[in-house]
Amino acid sequence: MKHLIDILRAEHHLESNGYKALLECDDDSVVAYLHEQAREVAQGVFARGIFVRGLVELTNVCRNDCYYCGIRNSNTALERYMLTTEQVLQSCQQGYELGFRTFVLQGGELPRDKAQWLVELVSEIRQRWSDCAITLSLGEWPREVYVALRKAGADRYLLRHESHNAEHYAKLHPAEMSLENRLQCLTWLKELGYQVGTGIMTGSPWQSLDNIVEDIEFIERFKPQMIGLGPFVPQHDTPLGKFATGSAELTCRLYSIFRLMFPNALIPSTTALNTIDVKGRIKGIMAGANVVMPNLSPANVRGNYALYDGKAITNAEAAEGIEQLETQLSTIGYHIDWGRGDHKQCTIHNA
Ligand code: SAM
Repeated sequence: MKHLIDILRAEHHLESNGYKALLECDDDSVVAYLHEQAREVAQGVFARGIFVRGLVELTNVCRNDCYYCGIRNSNTALERYMLTTEQVLQSCQQGYELGFRTFVLQGGELPRDKAQWLVELVSEIRQRWSDCAITLSLGEWPREVYVALRKAGADRYLLRHESHNAEHYAKLHPAEMSLENRLQCLTWLKELGYQVGTGIMTGSPWQSLDNIVEDIEFIERFKPQMIGLGPFVPQHDTPLGKFATGSAELTCRLYSIFRLMFPNALIPSTTALNTIDVKGRIKGIMAGANVVMPNLSPANVRGNYALYDGKAITNAEAAEGIEQLETQLSTIGYHIDWGRGDHKQCTIHNA
């Protein structure tokens, strides 16, 4: 098995059965070797720096109804909010003063008539903080909206494909949503010159290891600059609220596989991982992740961006806990890299 890992590191590719074998492997020493190789590769490209992105959760209003998501349209148990332009700018200002140079605007999928507001918001952020990267994670829009957001100054876009298996995708989403449209959006984003991120929830209901292999192979072909992976965590007011939580171990294993496939990729150690495992963030970094996304949203709305139960919103998850994050990173010999952290095009120094 270690031989497979060596091949993945050297060639950045395995056959399907190789990926499946790595996912199935229950030998702890092999998994430890996988993480070690991934960590070495990440350190070869990024040294021991971890990029931080300030996350602003714009709104929990959503036109979609994904069966797993706590802010789905049908969830009536949730108090809805939408930040004002002024609140978003204040969050960015606070983030800028703390040292953040990437803002991630994430949110539920707003009604179509809010597109112009989003474009103006991005334009204002671009003018005020010209040295910062703007990442959007605002779901599916018609192509012209992506064009307008890009022209307004957005640099990056995160849109997890969620599952590359159409049958599995259909079990997680209502009939109005389609894998085809999700993939179309990803293609447009790439064509428009965004740095694009995609990914999945690990352990989402009905997900098989074969599904994950399909996801890996899609990501291999799509070549995103960012790869977003977190465990599925149930939210009690959703139709999938009684399914089991995904696995931190499998999530970290995937971070390592993707790091070996894409040495330069930006791979966040996600809040969901840190929610299900108190040491999740650190384990993610030790498996090859190199980004964390502390929360810059106003404190009074954070609890309402309730994607899943128990979502971590305080301490090192929060922007004001940045010192705590720094301390945590220093315990494993890492530090915050305050740069914009754009995707590196071609520097691979296999350590
Ligand atoms: N609406 C945008 C979209 O779909 O890309 C951005 C917001 S959406 C809430 C961000 C991500 O949250 C989704 O891509 C999904 O993977 C994740 N998410 C939603 N519900 C979750 C859950 N129950 N457990 C873990 N992750 C979840």
